[in-house]
Amino acid sequence: MRGDVVTLLVVIIFILFLIYGPLPTLLARLFQWHAIRAVNHSRDIFLTFDDGPNPDYTPQILKVLREYGVKATFFLVAGRALRHPELVKRIVEDGHEIGSHGERHHALWFKGWRHTQTELSTSYQILRDLTGAERFWYRPPWGLLNWAALTSPVLRGRDVVLWSVMPSDWRKQNDAESIANFAIRKVKGGSIIVLHDSDESLGAAPGAPLASIAALPQIISSLQQQGFEFRTVSEVPVMKPHLSPFKIMIQSIWMGWEHIFEWFTRIRSVSSFRWGIFKVFITKHHGRSIACNDGTSIQSGDWVGELHLDNQIILQLLRQEGSDRVALTLSRMVRDALIEMSKAIDTTPELAKVKAFTGITLLHRGIRGLGFELHQLKSNWFRNFSMLYLRFLLRVFHPHGKKRVSHSRQKLVPMMLVMTRESLLNRRPVEIKKGEVM
Ligand SMILES: [Zn+2]
Repeated sequence: MRGDVVTLLVVIIFILFLIYGPLPTLLARLFQWHAIRAVNHSRDIFLTFDDGPNPDYTPQILKVLREYGVKATFFLVAGRALRHPELVKRIVEDGHEIGSHGERHHALWFKGWRHTQTELSTSYQILRDLTGAERFWYRPPWGLLNWAALTSPVLRGRDVVLWSVMPSDWRKQNDAESIANFAIRKVKGGSIIVLHDSDESLGAAPGAPLASIAALPQIISSLQQQGFEFRTVSEVPVMKPHLSPFKIMIQSIWMGWEHIFEWFTRIRSVSSFRWGIFKVFITKHHGRSIACNDGTSIQSGDWVGELHLDNQIILQLLRQEGSDRVALTLSRMVRDALIEMSKAIDTTPELAKVKAFTGITLLHRGIRGLGFELHQLKSNWFRNFSMLYLRFLLRVFHPHGKKRVSHSRQKLVPMMLVMTRESLLNRRPVEIKKGEVM
């Protein structure tokens, strides 16, 4: 009996622990909930340094940054900053930005409410005293958050800054070359890169920052050559629609269902391909025959390529961009994917038997301009099912989904879009020319 009570208590404490620390950390990491992992700007990238300042390494990093004229953001451990005020001064004088990495380098999952709040407010006070600045970004040690940190008044509604590219430069086995290669390979527009200018934190190999310092010139010059521009976090306004936890949950369940759906589609198709935003499944056409404008007739049993849009990409776009821009970006991506498809048609034997590419869509505006024919869906149950499916999809993924769906209910009728093999081939030169102009 007593054993049961103890077990129950342990389970309850464990669940409370999961809710207190790991849950907000997961929401922040996966969905950028109250947090920034990457910023959507095609040419801006962000170099950040954690755990400093350190008299052995910080000056060397400042020297490299000065040589290349690059500005970075330093997330300082305030207790260490207090020991090296002269380094803080140099960071500020060089025009870099300063953020808080806590007062001590403590894992917040294991720190209580009051401890966390004090830790944050003390670190902010120390940084204010040292720099004269008022507001700072916050990055929790090891990226581990809890509710007390997320709701801390010292953040004043500012998002926590996490990262999207981590070359794990604290590890002994990572040398300058592997750090540089990793960073260069992983960086996209808007990436936030994290490196370390101290080896004092738990888990860091002694002398580890030396590899980062050696890697920096290569990272900076290679990314600059690719046209990226280094910025500090405050320089660029973050455009990130805030989603409610409810919407986040619905979207996650949805994406899970999508994976299952895709798995089934893959099973009933003989092969599948990916061209840009399209996933294409080669399968047999079922149901009534389709008479296409160019004379092609698709009979039941003919091979077709089923087109599916990658909803993960769309979801990402909706999270990052305004809805007007998403429509533009999407149509550009569809056009690019069509160009890739038309190029692949000669070199992919599986496509030789395909008569046409088909898909179901709710949004037909501008589709004809992309070279698709629109056909009514003949089967009633299929039509109704796809209508519900696609309306739900739009509602979940569109930031103003509900409004959009009820505003234009009349127009949101699913249609079958078809592009015959011939028209894809015929359009090829025109499309490729268009692609060059864009
Ligand atoms: Zn750290």
